[in-house]
Amino acid sequence: MTTVIDALVRPEIQAIPAYRVAAADGMIKLDAMENPYGWPDELKAEWLETLRGLDLNRYPDPNGEALHTALRETMGIGPEFELLLGNGSDELIQMLAMTVGGPGRRLLSLDPGFVMYRQIAQCAGMEYVGVPLRADFAIDLPAVLAAIERERPALIFLAYPNNPTGNRFDSEDMVRIIEAAPGLVVVDEAYAPFTDTSFLGLLGDWPNLLVMRTVSKMGLAGLRLGYLVGPRDWLAQIDKTRLPYNINVLTQVSAVFALRHKALFDAQTRAIREERARLFAALATLDGLHPYPSEANFILVRTPRGRAGSLFSALCERGVLVKNLDGSDPALADCLRITVGTPEENAALVDALRSALCASG
Ligand code: PMP
Repeated sequence: MTTVIDALVRPEIQAIPAYRVAAADGMIKLDAMENPYGWPDELKAEWLETLRGLDLNRYPDPNGEALHTALRETMGIGPEFELLLGNGSDELIQMLAMTVGGPGRRLLSLDPGFVMYRQIAQCAGMEYVGVPLRADFAIDLPAVLAAIERERPALIFLAYPNNPTGNRFDSEDMVRIIEAAPGLVVVDEAYAPFTDTSFLGLLGDWPNLLVMRTVSKMGLAGLRLGYLVGPRDWLAQIDKTRLPYNINVLTQVSAVFALRHKALFDAQTRAIREERARLFAALATLDGLHPYPSEANFILVRTPRGRAGSLFSALCERGVLVKNLDGSDPALADCLRITVGTPEENAALVDALRSALCASG
């Protein structure tokens, strides 16, 4: 059996681990950049009412027309651009890789960056080219331009702001990359709700620029809905890689409902931004911790040398789950990534970190 597996499974698939998510039952969950706030009871009741009339025996609207309209209206996307929906933006990354991938094709991004760019490149049979960021996590422009020249990538992802570092790259550097790229450049704005600038307004300035967004971080991670915006000719091609009915009935109806209440999510994301500033200040006062400034809903923290693993475990024992990034990239040695939670959750995290630092110090 093993030999059949060895013989048939592509070596690049055998070489990678599956994407695993840590068990979080009963824990304060600060590991996955979710919005910690739920909905008021009345809104939940209203939402459940909208589901009452649904039938599940039929396939969903294949094109998600109502959802397209709702997204265009709430996000201000004009008729000159096409919109493509994905089962999370993860699925859109996969569709993009399937569209331009193949032997000899390369996907370029910046490291440390979002892990799925590499993972999906490998699954789609593309070679991943990761260009290291500078020590301050800014773009190393000469290195990126040289890599573009050398590797001629078919696809480039720039996360704006970047995960897991939390910073927003210099937009002039990004423009230089878009102009130098021989292929598509996707600006991944998963964390758009937590920052003030966007490339959406620049769509159309370059024929190879696409913008990708998700509703996950604004407070709808459970729906699994991402969207890609860009020129019609590109999106018409990418649409061919989309599986039929990829956005299920419940997601379509629930997202349309939620977008009608966008003001609630705007208020929640504002609260998270304010809480981010308070959490940053609290982390900065803890001895030996170095939090990096963030434009997203998480904060990357460098811990004292060699202690990320024991601090992570100590936090788990105290019921707080964060992400341990130590060992995932040379630039992330000793780093933890902490999602901004509610004021109570953040206070519990800071208390737990303080005592863990004392205990293991
Ligand atoms: N892009 C970035 C930069 C991310 O950090 C994430 C999630 N962690 C995603 C895309 C994927 O988001 P989703 O699939 O939930 O839409």
